[in-house]
Amino acid sequence: MDAPLLSARNLCKRYAGSSVVDDLSFEIAPGECLGMIGPNGAGKTTGVRICLGQTTPDAGTVLALGLQMPRDALAIKAQLGVVAQNDTLDPDFSCAENLLVYGRYFGMREAAIRRRIPQLLDFAALTPKAAAKPGELSGGMKRRLSLARALINDPRLLMLDEPTTGLDPQARHLMWERLQVLLAQGKSILLTTHFMDEAERLCNRLLVIDHGKKIAEGRPRELIARHLEPDVIEVYGTGALALAQDATLQSLAARVELSGETAFFYTDSARQLLAALEAHPQLRTLHRPANLEDLFLKLTGRQIREEA
Ligand code: ADP
Repeated sequence: MDAPLLSARNLCKRYAGSSVVDDLSFEIAPGECLGMIGPNGAGKTTGVRICLGQTTPDAGTVLALGLQMPRDALAIKAQLGVVAQNDTLDPDFSCAENLLVYGRYFGMREAAIRRRIPQLLDFAALTPKAAAKPGELSGGMKRRLSLARALINDPRLLMLDEPTTGLDPQARHLMWERLQVLLAQGKSILLTTHFMDEAERLCNRLLVIDHGKKIAEGRPRELIARHLEPDVIEVYGTGALALAQDATLQSLAARVELSGETAFFYTDSARQLLAALEAHPQLRTLHRPANLEDLFLKLTGRQIREEA
């Protein structure tokens, strides 16, 4: 790996006596999109906030762009772009003015900001909305304006917290496409997401975090191959759950999981398992390759974690 843009070492944070971030280390290489995935309350936001100098860790160090957090927080932030999950746009200013004000905040020269605004509005597909205020924008437009704003200082590293949560499929695909353009330009991204398709599509590398610890790390496809059997056969319909106890089927599956009315057979022997299932024509089956969602559920469990 090239010298990392950001290196977080042995981060620890406790709140009210319990470990929220527990000896967490990770790096982001130039041009890389690193995804952080984990259930609610896993410690992702706290980990990112420590990297941004917004939360003081109990232990650990953050080096970013050759500088040290929190000592060099201002110099680091000047080279970072941050898109928080909650909209922090100024409701009283137009889209163009939001970019202008943000550029001034970075101490950029007025002429340089004004040159950049049309390019950024175009990048965010917001040129026709230059004079509109955030209240007049859709959720997807607001998120793209926040991204454009984060790009005003031409940062090398972007920190994006759930960039597509709450967006409809069209807006989500447009955001993915824009992020891919930024990656192609050589920017680096740290992304938290709950969408496994998003993580697989955008991220070169993933950190799976649970209970404040890194429980897996790697390229999405490699993680799937390392932790899971290649095929999943989902079986649903009356009697599906009882089938999980069937000795023949069990012998053909490495693992069987139940969720709701569905039995999931994880297997290296999909053909034989499907043949055995022909003895149960009343059941419906879905045969598919194992995916990142299967990995996530295997590593972090199927039980619900309530909103942290
Ligand atoms: P995630 O982003 O993975 O959902 P968070 O980092 O937001 O996880 O939260 C991890 C845990 O830390 C949660 O249990 C949350 O309630 C707790 N926590 C986060 N910030 C604070 C805080 N400022 N004070 C007390 N507890 C906090």
